[in-house]
Amino acid sequence: MSRIKCLETLDAMKRFRDSVPSHQKVALVPTMGALHAGHLALVEQAKTLAPVVIVSIFVNPMQFGPHEDFEKYPRNLENDLSILEPYHPLTVFAPSVMEMYPHGPSRTIITVPSMTTVMCGLGRPGHFDGVATVVAKLFNITRPHMALFGQKDAQQLAIIKQLVEDLNFPIKIIGVPTVRETSGLAMSSRNQYLTPSQKEQAAFLYQGLYAAQVLFENGERRANPLIHKVQQVLQSQNIDPEYIALVDQRTLEPIEVITDSPALIALAARIGQARLIDNVVLVP
Ligand code: AMP
Repeated sequence: MSRIKCLETLDAMKRFRDSVPSHQKVALVPTMGALHAGHLALVEQAKTLAPVVIVSIFVNPMQFGPHEDFEKYPRNLENDLSILEPYHPLTVFAPSVMEMYPHGPSRTIITVPSMTTVMCGLGRPGHFDGVATVVAKLFNITRPHMALFGQKDAQQLAIIKQLVEDLNFPIKIIGVPTVRETSGLAMSSRNQYLTPSQKEQAAFLYQGLYAAQVLFENGERRANPLIHKVQQVLQSQNIDPEYIALVDQRTLEPIEVITDSPALIALAARIGQARLIDNVVLVP
């Protein structure tokens, strides 16, 4: 039996949130569950920043396309609660789809067009609108002072930062570095879809990004050679990426030559049943 408090309704969340003294900071860690060490890095950092930490666990149907893995996405709340046990005290918010969308999908959609339709947005139309909308709902439901997101989902992080700025949410958005397996593979709930040999192949996504990072550290600033480097490594493993992009970390606009501001080199690729993403930040 976990000591972690798990709230499943908006009413229960409201009562809990109202009970938090106004001088206490609240940190939110939004997740879709199937927790792993990547999620726990967010929780750990949240615990150092705020006395009240809320971890939301919600597989959001609005961010899955019609042929994506919403149905088979791994769900195991009991296991998630036991993984979170060492972080007690902590509050989990795990609402049902009915609780979040009682009248069907939200008719209000939050979108950041220039950022939601590029990179992963091309292959997953509507995905980031679903993310931005559910995150805005979670912000209003849990009223956090800060919220933590993984750098692994760099496009998501940039979009959330933009929406918070544009819509004046009084919430500090904190990005947390990507947690990787020893092979370099970024931890992801979707790694569960991989066979052991596919996992070995998937590690080359990071090997490619890392090779580009080394090139960057040796002075290369142009997009073409950096992207080509990643391509070469992927090709050597017969990985055909959905995209490899060099973009401004904040605006996600494509970059030809890296000058002053941090850039992201990011990719998506399908390995077996899993669509995987990864990126590294190149700071000039
Ligand atoms: P998800 O459950 O996949 O929606 O992820 C919930 C949060 O955990 C998001 O902010 C992700 O960016 C973050 N996250 C997932 N995997 C990792 C990882 N390997 N390292 C750091 N953060 C991660």
